Amino acid sequence: MSFSLSESNDTIIALATPQGVGAIAVIRLSGKDAIRLTNEVFFGKNLEKQESHTIHFGTIRDGEKIIDEVLVSLFISPKSFTKENVVEISTHGSSYIINQVIKLFLKKGARPAKPGEFTQRAFLNGQFDLAQAEAVADLIHADSETSHQAALSQMRGGFSSEIQQLREKLIHFASMIELELDFGEEDVEFASRTELQELVERLLRVVEELILSFDLGNVIKNGVPTVIAGKPNAGKSTLLNALLNEEKAIVSDIAGTTRDFIEDEINLGGVIFRFIDTAGLRETTDTIEAIGVSRTQEKMKTASLILYLFDLGDTDLVEINRDVNKLENLGVPFLKIANKIDKGNPELVSELKSKYPDTIFISAGNKENLEGLKAKILELVNLDKFKTGNTIVTNVRHYDSLIKTRDSLLDILRGIDEQITNDFVAMDIRRSLHYLGEITGEITTDDLLANIFSKFCIGK
Ligand code: GDP
Repeated sequence: MSFSLSESNDTIIALATPQGVGAIAVIRLSGKDAIRLTNEVFFGKNLEKQESHTIHFGTIRDGEKIIDEVLVSLFISPKSFTKENVVEISTHGSSYIINQVIKLFLKKGARPAKPGEFTQRAFLNGQFDLAQAEAVADLIHADSETSHQAALSQMRGGFSSEIQQLREKLIHFASMIELELDFGEEDVEFASRTELQELVERLLRVVEELILSFDLGNVIKNGVPTVIAGKPNAGKSTLLNALLNEEKAIVSDIAGTTRDFIEDEINLGGVIFRFIDTAGLRETTDTIEAIGVSRTQEKMKTASLILYLFDLGDTDLVEINRDVNKLENLGVPFLKIANKIDKGNPELVSELKSKYPDTIFISAGNKENLEGLKAKILELVNLDKFKTGNTIVTNVRHYDSLIKTRDSLLDILRGIDEQITNDFVAMDIRRSLHYLGEITGEITTDDLLANIFSKFCIGK
C-alpha cells in the first residue's frame, strides 16, 4: 500500500511543548497552507517570501488585537520533519496565549492534530519507515540511558536496514521461483534449492536472534523485574531502602509490617531494575515454606533476578543449602547475599566462603558493600549484547511479526525438505516477505497505522 502527499492536504496544528505554564511554548503547524495561514495572522513581514529554515520576529494578531509577540520558524516542503510545509511558532508560555493562538488558527482553517499525526505524516511522506516512527515514540518515553540508546539506534534505522536487506534477498528468490512457475512444464531451475535453503537458514538465524533480543529489549524498556527474597527480619526492606536511597518501604523491627508487595525502580548503571518486595515471605516463619508461599513463588518465577538475602546472625548453613536448592530449581538467576556482617558470626562466614565463594557480604543497615552488590547485580543481568551495539527488538508489534516470519521461514524449509511444488514454496516465501514488510511498514493497513500512531501524544 502506498500513500501520497495529497492524502494529508489539510493543515494541522498542535502545541508541541508540554501543557502548563513555561517560559516559552512552541505551537506547530504542518500542511500545504501552514505558511499561508500563519502569514494571515502574523505581522512583521511577509512570511511567504522567506527562505526555508529561517526565524522571524513579529506579532500574532486577531484582527486589531495583538495576542503575543512571537518567533516564527519556517520549514518549507520537503525540507521539514513531515516533509510538508511546517511552521513553529514560539509564543510566551501562558495557557491563555496558547489557546488564543490555536483558536485563531482553527478559525482560519487549520484543524487540531490527532495524536502522533505529525509523525504519521512524516512516515506517510517517506521521512522514515514504521519501525523508525515507532522509535520516535519510544525515544520520547525513554527514561533511562539504555532505553534511550535502544530507541535512538532504532530511530536511526539500525533495526530496519537489517530487516530490509534480508527482505531484498528473499524477494530475489521469490522472483526466481515465480519465473520458474512461468516456465511451467519445462522443468528449468532458476533458483537453486540448495541456495534457497542456505538463505532461509541464514534468515532464520538473524530472525531468531532478533526474537531472543526481545527479552533483553523488554528488560531495557520496562526494567529488570527483581525480587528480594528471604526470611522475615533478614533485612529485605532495609536493603530495598538502602538501594532506593529513600524510605519507600516500611522498615520495622516487627516482622510483618510490610504487608504488600512494593514495587519500585532504581537505575543502576543506566539499567532500570524494578524491585518487587516480597512481603509474602513474612506470612510464614519457616524459610522453606516461605519460598513455597504461592504468591511469592509466582512473583519469583516472573522475576529476572532474585536477591536471596539472609541474616548472618540468624541462619545456619543447613537452612541456606535448602534455600539455595529451592532457588536453583526455580531456574531464575539469583544472588546469595549475607546481610548484617556487622553482627559477626565468623564461623558461618568462613563456611560460606568455602561452600559458596560467590556469596556477597553486606550490611544493609550500615550501607556496607552496597557498591559490590550493585556490581554483581549488573554482572548477572548480562547486558553486554546491548553494549556491543547489536540490534534489539523492543516493540511488541515487531516481535509478533518476527515470530510469524520465523514460522513461515520454517515452512519454506519444510517445503524444500519435503520437495513440495514451486507454487507452494512461492506462497511460503510471499508469507515471509509479508511479515518482514510489516515491521518496516512496506506492508501496512490503515488499522495498523491508526493503532500505532494513536499511542503517540498530541503534538508529536
Ligand atoms: P525484612 O523483614 O527482611 O524486611 O527486614 P527489615 O529490613 O525490616 O530488617 C529487620 C531488622 O534488621 C531491622 O531492625 C533492621 O534495622 C535490621 N537490620 C537490617 N540490616 C541490618 C544490618 O546490616 N545490620 C544490623 N545489625 N541490623 C540490620
